[in-house]
Amino acid sequence: MRYDDSGGGADQMGETDPHIHVQQRAARAGYDVRGLLASTFGLVADAPAVVSTGCGRQVPYAMTSSRPESVTCLACREHAHQEHLRFADQVEQLGRMPGSVVTADQAALAARRHRDLAQRFRSR
Ligand SMILES: [Zn+2]
Repeated sequence: MRYDDSGGGADQMGETDPHIHVQQRAARAGYDVRGLLASTFGLVADAPAVVSTGCGRQVPYAMTSSRPESVTCLACREHAHQEHLRFADQVEQLGRMPGSVVTADQAALAARRHRDLAQRFRSR
């Protein structure tokens, strides 16, 4: 009995991925309330060494960017596009809630920024 199909092609997990990705929670990072509190108290001074990306990989933090123009991974661009659109909707809903931490004006401004970012991730 002979198994003869073991030739090559086993190097798909190479760590030299040349693409720039987005973090999985890119859209939320800037407005995350816990993140805001943490930064206020100086708890997020250290960037994580490895982060999850929009395309489901684990890459070094240095290989990610939140600038649409810098992201070269297509799957990540699409992910970020969707995330920013969804977040824009969420922010608007937040702004309409009585007693919300953000005013309707602030929510509208934030939503517009996220829709703008979404467009930049979509365009090539
Ligand atoms: Zn990616």
